[in-house]
Amino acid sequence: MLRLSNICKSYQMGEYTVHALRNVSLTVEHGEFIAIIGTSGSGKSTLMHTIGLLDRPDSGTYEIDDQNVTGLSDTQTARLRNRTIGFIFQQFNLLKRASAQENVNLPLLYSGNTTAGHRGQKMLELVGLGDRMHHCPNELSGGQQQRVAIARALVNNPSIILADEPTGNLDSKSSQDIMALFRALHKQGLTIVLVTHDVEVAEHADRIITIRDGEIQEDRRNETPVINTEAGEDVLELLREGSKKRSWLAMLREGTALTRQSLRALWHNKARTFLSALGILIGVAAVIAMVSLALGAKASVNEQLARLGSNLLSIRPASRSSQGVQLAAGDISRMALEDTAAIAQLPHVKSAASNVRGNVQLQYGSKNWATQTYGVSPDYAPMRAEVPMLGRYITDEDIANRAQVAVIGMTPLRNLFGENENPIGKTIRINRRAYQIVGVLPERGANAFHDQDDTVRIPITTAMYRLFGKRYVDGIDAEIDKVGNIPQAQDDIQDLMSARHNRNPNENPFDIRNMAEIQAALGSTTKIMSILLASIAGISLIVGGIGIMNIMLVSVTERTREIGLRKAIGARRQDIMAQFLIEALAISLLGGLSGLALGVGLSLGMAKGAGWPMEINNLSIIVAFGFSVFIGIFFGLWPAMKASKLDPIEALRYE
Ligand code: ADP
Ligand code: MG
Repeated sequence: MLRLSNICKSYQMGEYTVHALRNVSLTVEHGEFIAIIGTSGSGKSTLMHTIGLLDRPDSGTYEIDDQNVTGLSDTQTARLRNRTIGFIFQQFNLLKRASAQENVNLPLLYSGNTTAGHRGQKMLELVGLGDRMHHCPNELSGGQQQRVAIARALVNNPSIILADEPTGNLDSKSSQDIMALFRALHKQGLTIVLVTHDVEVAEHADRIITIRDGEIQEDRRNETPVINTEAGEDVLELLREGSKKRSWLAMLREGTALTRQSLRALWHNKARTFLSALGILIGVAAVIAMVSLALGAKASVNEQLARLGSNLLSIRPASRSSQGVQLAAGDISRMALEDTAAIAQLPHVKSAASNVRGNVQLQYGSKNWATQTYGVSPDYAPMRAEVPMLGRYITDEDIANRAQVAVIGMTPLRNLFGENENPIGKTIRINRRAYQIVGVLPERGANAFHDQDDTVRIPITTAMYRLFGKRYVDGIDAEIDKVGNIPQAQDDIQDLMSARHNRNPNENPFDIRNMAEIQAALGSTTKIMSILLASIAGISLIVGGIGIMNIMLVSVTERTREIGLRKAIGARRQDIMAQFLIEALAISLLGGLSGLALGVGLSLGMAKGAGWPMEINNLSIIVAFGFSVFIGIFFGLWPAMKASKLDPIEALRYE
């Protein structure tokens, strides 16, 4: 059933070429029990690795059941290793943190067999370890560990058992037990090929092959072999199966088992796992908190702008240096109260109100407060939604009389009167002149740059003629009936004002600003800020991903032998990839979920504690979390690929 013809294998050791196998030809029939004996370095292991499909020969052919198996794909050899061959190593190669039963069941995981659930238990009973099922390797003796390894080799019902010095690490009593076990297995029809350097051990076999310097020296029969021609699995069928897709159930089962093993590995290295998840944790938390902050700021800016009204046009004389041309002082057009009245008559204009402003000193009793005063007309109130909280607003009568009355904002009110005194009817001094307070402005709130409540309103005529001695107004606000009419109204006002002031309208002697434009400009500023904040946070996510990659690479290196073993018992490349990807994913999920909790917590904390306007955004949570998972997979991929490409025998040799 096994036929090797002219197999050669050599290793390059610097200048030397070591010929481990020279033209080895060997046929092993079904049901034979063969011992290969030779001194150390004679090429026994190399031969076994070739037979076990763990290593490829340089030349020669190898057939199993008349199927040529030299030059098969990775998946196909994995399949054969998994189902036809049970390999037993001198060093047992058990997973340290898994129980005997889990170790024995490992090949089932890679065979995609969903129905063989209790085989592991049966095999352990067969090798006499029924009572040690749940013990980990470090709780078992050497002989017991080797028996676990034999049970593992048997679990997939292979037709060939290959054992490379299975008694090399055992005392003579354990050796006897193991050889008795092989003898029993052989009686049941298994083909057994055993490598040893010990003549006594070799005497158990039916056929003894002596190998020296990579060549077969002697091939003799020990006694008449018991030949059982009942074949195991159909090799051709297995090769076909090797390239087939697994069932969903098998993949699910493998996924759960690998997840459990990964979680155990992560749990075992708690501190390391936490540190590698930390980067992702900070990244996700930062993205969520930063986006909440940016969106909150945007919302509060928009809210403040909305209070100003979006259909407003604000008209001012063009500044001296507008359009890059220096205008002489006389060229600046001064706007008068009559201009306001004329603008109010234009078609799309609902109302127009003028204002003058200036810095003043307020005084009440012994208290002083510097603020900005606005001289306004009654029309100003509906335009800016200034309905007094207390008392009344400026009236037409006040305008006509140039009355010395004031509507006070919350900030000067607090500073001059404190919380308990009713200011209505009280007299304050504005630049030393007495004004009676008739109303209190509604509270608008402040941001870091501007306190909208730090102001006082007085009649515009009083401001112009009594307070500042101005004959002109500083600005005119016009409310347009519909947002759609704003461009038309803007042109009309420009034309009207140019005509009234004998100016060429092409010079744009007046600056007309549109609140909607200002809103849009501010909106795009806050958007840029959000993107900036989010990308800084995103960078920290990437850094976190690199942290994961680092740890995974260390983990792959550390577990090279484990990977070699898994491949030797039939894990395909994708199985190894899946295992490390699951591990990377578990780390990033851990980081992502705790980062999510921290990010939402931080946002709520800043909103509550510091009173910042935070707006937690579901999309940012989903994106940050999704991105962290993606990062886990992305940065886990390379280490996982590295692990999956390891050569089984190279990996097993790794120290
Ligand atoms: P045995 O198992 O009989 O002790 P091996 O088959 O392991 O011998 O080795 C046969 C020869 O090939 C030895 O000389 C050994 O040094 C050499 N050899 C085996 N594996 C390698 C390797 N990976 N690189 C270089 N030389 C090797
Ligand atoms: Mg060896």
